[in-house]
Amino acid sequence: KKKKKDAPTVKPKDAKKILFPQPLVSFTQLRAAWKLSPRLEDNLADQGYRIPTEVQLGSLPVLIRPEKAISTTAAAELGIEPEDGIHFLAVAPTGSGKTLAFLIPVINDVLRRRAEITKDRVLETIIVVPTRELAEQITNEGRKLTKNTGVKIVMMKRGMRLPAEGRMESEDNEESNSESEDSNDSSDGSDLDANEQVKEATPTRADILVTTPLLLGNFLKSRTLPTVRSLILDEGDVLLEQRFLEQTLQIWSACVNPSLRLRCFSATMGAHIEELISNQLSKRDRDNRVIPLV
Ligand code: ADP
Ligand code: MG
Repeated sequence: KKKKKDAPTVKPKDAKKILFPQPLVSFTQLRAAWKLSPRLEDNLADQGYRIPTEVQLGSLPVLIRPEKAISTTAAAELGIEPEDGIHFLAVAPTGSGKTLAFLIPVINDVLRRRAEITKDRVLETIIVVPTRELAEQITNEGRKLTKNTGVKIVMMKRGMRLPAEGRMESEDNEESNSESEDSNDSSDGSDLDANEQVKEATPTRADILVTTPLLLGNFLKSRTLPTVRSLILDEGDVLLEQRFLEQTLQIWSACVNPSLRLRCFSATMGAHIEELISNQLSKRDRDNRVIPLV
């Protein structure tokens, strides 16, 4: 039911072989072996999540990036690449818990980067879903998991602007002093209902952005998103259908960071989807842009 791209085709002789780790047994394992943030672990427990589902058991050990400090050997033992991770395709039925399978790793990535590299908000992850309803659900789920972590997950809204070059600017007037970095922005939660209009011209800072293809596509035009390192396509089979394809590829194309990793989750995944994705991956030019098919 679940497929990991590259897994069966990697030959032992390959220099950069990818060994897949054993599936997890429990979320608590993630703290010891994967240095999952204890706050994230607490938030999972608070939500009543104790035993990972099958798709989570398989995905989390592959998708959670190892600590920066991890050696190449240790990474190989754990079955992952030391830095960037891999492109990933997971197929699992509706209701099987795919949301946590992609949210936990990206939230952990943000926490790790902010602990080790810079505390600034840098748009690191884009989660693309076909509908606003799904975007709202995922944003809400993300808010629960990022409670008391300082990680900010927002939903793209019509008229919303992102900081130039995807870089998070300091915004003196916006929400800077009134809330601590560690508390979730509760006003954002209520915004979800009034997602039609965003009046401010100031760019929205976020670590993780949830969007439909249309909402972000309209904003992007020819802009790029150079800081984004994880692009998640949720309901990937739908996003790669004709009606969403152009805008989905536009977003993918704007993610020009060489470390970008694509993570595609879907309930169904025909061979043509896999082919389309690998074609797109092989088509990225020198600047790591996807050359759109359409
Ligand atoms: P999918 O995207 O695969 O259709 P979801 O991510 O929407 O599935 O999850 C379906 C339901 O399962 C949600 O209500 C979610 O809260 C619940 N769920 C996910 N993971 C777990 C878990 N490990 N333990 C208990 N419930 C879970
Ligand atoms: Mg889902």
